[in-house]
Amino acid sequence: MRDLIIKNGIVYDPLNNIDGEKIEIHIKDGKIVDKVDGDAKVIDASGMIVLPGGVDIHSHIAGAKVNVGRALRPEDKVSEFNEAHTKLTRAGTGYSVPSTWVTGYRYAKLGFTTVIEPAMPLLEARHTHEEFLEIPIIDKAAFPLFGNNWFVMEYIREKEFEKLAAYINWILQVTKGYAIKIVNPGGVENWTWGKNVNSLDDHVLHFDVTPREIVEGLATANEMLGLPHPIHVHCNNLGHPGNVEHTIETMKAVEKIKPKGEREVVLHITHCQFNAYGGTNWNNFESRAPKVAEYLNSHKHISIDVGQVIFGKYATTTMTADGPWEFALHHLGGMSAWGAKPGIKWVNGQVEGESGSGVVPYFFSPKVAVNAIQWAIGLELVLLMKNMWQIFLTTDHPNGGPFTSYPQVYRWLMDKKSRDDVLLNQCSKKAATQTQLKDIDRELTINELCIITRAGTAKSLGLKDRGHLGVGAIGDVSIYKLDPDKMDGHAIEKAFTQAAYTIKEGQIIVKDGEIMATPSGTLLVAKGQISDSSMETMLEEIKLKWRDHYSINFNNYAVQDVYTPKVKLVNGT
Ligand SMILES: [Zn+2]
Repeated sequence: MRDLIIKNGIVYDPLNNIDGEKIEIHIKDGKIVDKVDGDAKVIDASGMIVLPGGVDIHSHIAGAKVNVGRALRPEDKVSEFNEAHTKLTRAGTGYSVPSTWVTGYRYAKLGFTTVIEPAMPLLEARHTHEEFLEIPIIDKAAFPLFGNNWFVMEYIREKEFEKLAAYINWILQVTKGYAIKIVNPGGVENWTWGKNVNSLDDHVLHFDVTPREIVEGLATANEMLGLPHPIHVHCNNLGHPGNVEHTIETMKAVEKIKPKGEREVVLHITHCQFNAYGGTNWNNFESRAPKVAEYLNSHKHISIDVGQVIFGKYATTTMTADGPWEFALHHLGGMSAWGAKPGIKWVNGQVEGESGSGVVPYFFSPKVAVNAIQWAIGLELVLLMKNMWQIFLTTDHPNGGPFTSYPQVYRWLMDKKSRDDVLLNQCSKKAATQTQLKDIDRELTINELCIITRAGTAKSLGLKDRGHLGVGAIGDVSIYKLDPDKMDGHAIEKAFTQAAYTIKEGQIIVKDGEIMATPSGTLLVAKGQISDSSMETMLEEIKLKWRDHYSINFNNYAVQDVYTPKVKLVNGT
């Protein structure tokens, strides 16, 4: 591959304190260097902005529940999202649950080069990696689900944190995972009995532990292992009015846990928009985003991502390991558009004694008061934050809407006129009365956008080789046709919808919104620090338990190396 020089572009690289400077970027052998000598291909980025490749911290792109979503939604294959094959690309389809190959192409066209699949049931790891193999271009990682796992809950009940850490490390190794994911801790286990948990101190049936103990225990083990990312938590009571109390309780539960290494954050709350609700019912439903922002603005140990709601032409497909929530959503009237009866379609999945899942189609309408308020809450969360390194942009694809809607969200965040147009002219009036959005004048800068979509996410993941354009980083770069001095809402959305260039490790992948090359991405895996003897003790113990507890063979857990030809390991500290 030829060396590459990017000239004349306006560079944004917040991790290296570069905020809109005309500097050259040089890439040699896939990595950013000071200077390439000799023959190099030159990209003239005049009139363009240059950012590190996008890093999406939470997007459901692969695995069993995504595939169930595809099967549940034949109508998701709307014609405008059908893509014919080209000389380089395969055909594909799907609005909210795109097929595998086009998932890679679409992310690349937006300038993203790394994407995290945030919910991998242990027994469905192989399926996840099989789909990863088909998604080209982007690097990927998967977070195994631990929050309702029997071994996890037993170790926490017995306060055997060394063995818990060993178990987590083993699961990360055999499923080829990256970080600890927790979904509705305790609630999904109770759902196997048709129940849920209602507070952090409710009991998990038959395990004698509470959601609070699960969160504290897994955070403790995470720091023992020194894993690169904090525990990644989908809180209890997601989606319900008044749930902000449980969200703040979850944040407080880990105040005393010390992060290991350079990390300041010990707990990441994902798609926080769905957990920032006030009110006691759907009629007095209101935003409590200010309360969440206020807590984050005075505490460094928490980060969040948004879970922004999108008003699409079509229904999206909600999917989560939070089985009891999907049951509730199904009753609330899943897919009310399309003339279908509310909530007519619903899938519930239970994966042995380890995890659950649910899938429900859902249409977010600006005319529906609750949906309009949810839309405003997502934007409030970003705009009320002081430290942008604690908040990241997601739609919780495809839960709030598909990732292809990101440019629209950038527009709302960076241009008050555009978001006020939606708020005041398209939304139910309650969006303005039940939130503070109309009074917020802030418009995000390109530098801030760069933090919440790549620099901050890479840092949160402990990935030092990306999210920035400094020497030694991989040559992942996205370039957009945008003049920072002449930006309006339309120009912002247009520029970010089609990257002028997306470069992956020095190779031009996208030019003017067209795919130019389709290399396969790398799988990112992480490993914690723990003694061999702890691993041996734990393995002996769980092998014995397996004989009595489980219908699954111990050996079924391991995903063989053949499924992951390109791997990069990040070690704990
Ligand atoms: Zn999610």
